[in-house]
Amino acid sequence: MSLWCQRRIITTLHDFMKNQYSFLEKYYNISPFFISKAKEAEELITCILPPILERGAYNQLKVLKAFHEEGVQESDLAGTTGYGYNDSGREKLDRIWARIFGAETALVRCQFVSGTQAIAAAIMANCSSGDLVTVLGTPYDTLRSVFGTTKDDGALGKLGVKVHYIPFNGEKDIASLIPSNTKWLFLQRSRGYSEQPPLAISDIEAIIKAARSLNPSLLVMVDNCYGEFVENCEPLEVGVDLIAGSLIKNPGGGLAPTGGYVAGTKAFVNKAAERLTAPGLGRDVGATLGLTRPILQGLFLAPLLVSEALKGMVFASAFWNKLGYNVFPGYDKMRTDIIQGIALGSKEQVLAFCHGIQKAGPVDSMVRPEGWAMPGYEEEVVMAGGTFIQGGSLELSCDAPLRTPYIVYLQGGLSATQVRLGCLLAAMELEKKEKLL
Ligand SMILES: *Cc1c(COP(=O)(O)O)cnc(C)c1O
Repeated sequence: MSLWCQRRIITTLHDFMKNQYSFLEKYYNISPFFISKAKEAEELITCILPPILERGAYNQLKVLKAFHEEGVQESDLAGTTGYGYNDSGREKLDRIWARIFGAETALVRCQFVSGTQAIAAAIMANCSSGDLVTVLGTPYDTLRSVFGTTKDDGALGKLGVKVHYIPFNGEKDIASLIPSNTKWLFLQRSRGYSEQPPLAISDIEAIIKAARSLNPSLLVMVDNCYGEFVENCEPLEVGVDLIAGSLIKNPGGGLAPTGGYVAGTKAFVNKAAERLTAPGLGRDVGATLGLTRPILQGLFLAPLLVSEALKGMVFASAFWNKLGYNVFPGYDKMRTDIIQGIALGSKEQVLAFCHGIQKAGPVDSMVRPEGWAMPGYEEEVVMAGGTFIQGGSLELSCDAPLRTPYIVYLQGGLSATQVRLGCLLAAMELEKKEKLL
């Protein structure tokens, strides 16, 4: 972009933002110092936003094309009860999902509690005693009971499946570290709530290519949580066999009230379906109870809302960096998930930050988040939500395990304006804390 064009955009931006920022000063008592930092952050990111909008538009077209090819009708939205036989909406939803994610088949179900159950069902259904699963890095907290830790055999171990871990610190040349008798290689696309770097689709592609040159029959599963619609391409399109994820994150578009999905090669997805329902029943049952409408509408909106969340996260990265905090990724780095890490340094700061984010929520804004022992997590976790869907994290939310080095993981934002408000309120809370200390 020419300098002239850039200056013009920035001048116009300042004009545009005047009303918004005087509103923030007047009604939310944001200090002029933080307002000036927010404006500096907005200037920094002007050139970062167009590619995000472009990917959002591309994915929007990809989603719409799948709706058109499957011919969604009003009658598909009604849903079924009881056994849920012959549910045309459920079947179309599965086929639309398969088209979008490049799968032979997909299983999108409100009967999956969330992503954890979908991922657990997919891997456990496709392993048997004696198999070896190799995991790159550390799986997400809620999956540790599935894969096991150094202390405990997980559910896979109890089935007689061996689990081998490859430590991961960003080094992607790992093919030679995968034991040759590995049946499944398990990768996680997003960073989760850890300092572990995320995997871009191009990283996943390179890892698979190198690994299959040594072991052509290697199967690959990806935990796709937080990655959907961030890039133009999804894992199954670069050689992955099976993916699974959560409907209360990216692909639910903020509207799906519950659920998870598995997609990929037919034989593997069908095994996951038998694990979800029962052998012999598989994917042919499961009432949709009227949820096909919000799930389909959420899917339709997901690319737009993922790009809105990314706009918010890019702002947050620039803003907190301007305030002197370490952030990852940096505002100008390529993103493959919707998570923004910010290193704070103490438990008090984490709690103050989360309090500020919570204040910006459309729901429960008066609540002060505290740490608690959440099921599935090892340490106490503090979560700021204020969301319409409980735990929904394409909505602006913030999670922090209360452990050193006290990093908060900010994610989502159905409205980038709300993300800006949340960051400013969090900054005000931190400042209050500093004065109290
Ligand atoms: C959130 C998450 C999960 C679990 O999904 P839930 O819907 O919370 O059960 C698994 N893996 C990763 C990387 C996640 O971010």
